Amino acid sequence: MNNECVIGIDLGGTNIKGALLDLNGEIIEKKETPTLSDAGPEAVVNRIGGMITELEDLARRTGNRVAGVGIGVPGQPEREKGEVIFAPNLYWRNVPLAKYLYRNTGLPIFLENDANVAALGEHWRGAGRGSVNMVMVTIGTGIGSGIILNGQLYTGASGAAGELGHVVIESDGPQCSCGRRGCLETLTSATAMVRMAREAMDSGIKTVLSKEENLEAKDIIMAARDGDRLALEIAEKSAYYLGIGLGNIINILNPDTIVIGGGVSGAGHLFLDPLCRAARDNCLETAGSIVRIAAAQLGNDAGFVGAAKLVLEVN
Ligand SMILES: [Zn+2]
Repeated sequence: MNNECVIGIDLGGTNIKGALLDLNGEIIEKKETPTLSDAGPEAVVNRIGGMITELEDLARRTGNRVAGVGIGVPGQPEREKGEVIFAPNLYWRNVPLAKYLYRNTGLPIFLENDANVAALGEHWRGAGRGSVNMVMVTIGTGIGSGIILNGQLYTGASGAAGELGHVVIESDGPQCSCGRRGCLETLTSATAMVRMAREAMDSGIKTVLSKEENLEAKDIIMAARDGDRLALEIAEKSAYYLGIGLGNIINILNPDTIVIGGGVSGAGHLFLDPLCRAARDNCLETAGSIVRIAAAQLGNDAGFVGAAKLVLEVN
């Protein structure tokens, strides 16, 4: 008996998560190890190689053959060359990740941006199952998004499609890391929420948040749940801005489903209700009336599940 299976790897700034999955996307085995990017690209690539070898050994012992490996990377991959051109969180430039791993494992290696693999994962096994045209938006330090059109990942002319986080919403808004002003992620990411809270506290507004030494977005969500006025205002404001961004993408793509991922989506109705309202208020009714906006289902598994799906997309 020789069944095929696939390996998915989610390379993050903090951890490398990987899994062996069958062709239906059922997880056979999961693994996780710290990225330790300070040790340089070669050390990180070797750690990924080690994880692939362990998962392949396991596949062999259970009578399975690995068809290939998909890897989600926190940056911009050059798919044809098998290189990571730029991954700011890892301090990587032009790292020949796929080439090196292919040489060491003999397995076909496929690279894709992490927001895109998360979208593939939710589409295959999560909140986007059965969807034909889907957008996934992940709210983290920044805003990531991936687009599925006609059932397939859409990456654009140069692989840069789906940068919803850098759609300008307020042209005189806060400075963005990309150099422009008022991009969506300066108004609605976890970073933006913390910044809004700090600005309000500096201006003397009373809130339970002033007790937090290292304020994070999840503290704001928790305080909002407990009824803190400032925290509620920030959650609603972020939802409002994200809603404007979603309204734009609904008008352009007319998706049937939008999946919201990332820590903030865990806020539930508190965030999703004002978000859905703002999205529908900011798009045409023909597109807005049919779109389903749902919280992601796979959590931290979305990355490696979607990365594994890459292997099947190409074959
Ligand atoms: Zn930007």
